[in-house]
Amino acid sequence: MPDSTVLADPEAAAPARKLPRSLSHSSMAAYESCPKKFEFSRIDRIPDPPGRAMLVGTFAHAVLEDLMKTDPETRTVEAAKRIARRRWDRWFARHADFVRLDLDEAGRLDFRKDAWKAVEGYFAIEDPRGVEVVSVEARVEVTLGSVPLMGFVDRIEKAGGDTVVSDYKTGKVPAAAYKDEAIAQPHLYAAMLAETGVTVDRYRMLYVVGRQEVGGEVRASDLDSARQRAEDAWGAIVKDFSDGHFATRPSKLCDWCGYKEICPAWT
Ligand code: SF4
Repeated sequence: MPDSTVLADPEAAAPARKLPRSLSHSSMAAYESCPKKFEFSRIDRIPDPPGRAMLVGTFAHAVLEDLMKTDPETRTVEAAKRIARRRWDRWFARHADFVRLDLDEAGRLDFRKDAWKAVEGYFAIEDPRGVEVVSVEARVEVTLGSVPLMGFVDRIEKAGGDTVVSDYKTGKVPAAAYKDEAIAQPHLYAAMLAETGVTVDRYRMLYVVGRQEVGGEVRASDLDSARQRAEDAWGAIVKDFSDGHFATRPSKLCDWCGYKEICPAWT
């Protein structure tokens, strides 16, 4: 009788490496900042649990998502508070990613305060009762040229006859030098929506913590750049995958990278 323990081939048990079925803006940005990080995360699928700042953003997004799904006249600060309490009790406080932060009572309170600061900051930018919402968290999946893409658009709205994509941001307002990098996301969404027959006229990025809006028109050249960027990133990813080599790109960002301990640039 063969001993199956001895005969077992650990290599055979390893899941096959596959290219992701589609690219999102965040996976494209991950590849652009460091191909090796993309490989760890999207090819090898090594978990990198979100940190506190990202989870604050997740919670604030969820509250704003629910708020904008309600009738316009009911979108008040009080309503947002009720939604936040409900979301917290029924979902977030028990979410595995949040539990993993292992916060004590004071830490949980600080977390809630920071999330509320983001929601409250949104009200300082605009009165949601006047927003003509077309869709909230719309899932968009298209093939742009040769690139399979997928994304969730925080909000599409109508304003003065224009179609506008809006995105909530809980990070810092980007310095002028990083603005192009930041608006690559709404430009990509506009190019994806164009593929579905929706013409986006403008974008708005709502930096809710900083209480500032960064916005502008979407021009034909922005769509061309977004398409080219997607082609370049996808072409490079396919090549790296077939070569079996994703380069490391050490930078100061490595200190915030969840893969630093296993990264060949550092081990
Ligand atoms: S530690 Fe730095 S070089 Fe390594 S995967 Fe992360 S970002 Fe890339």
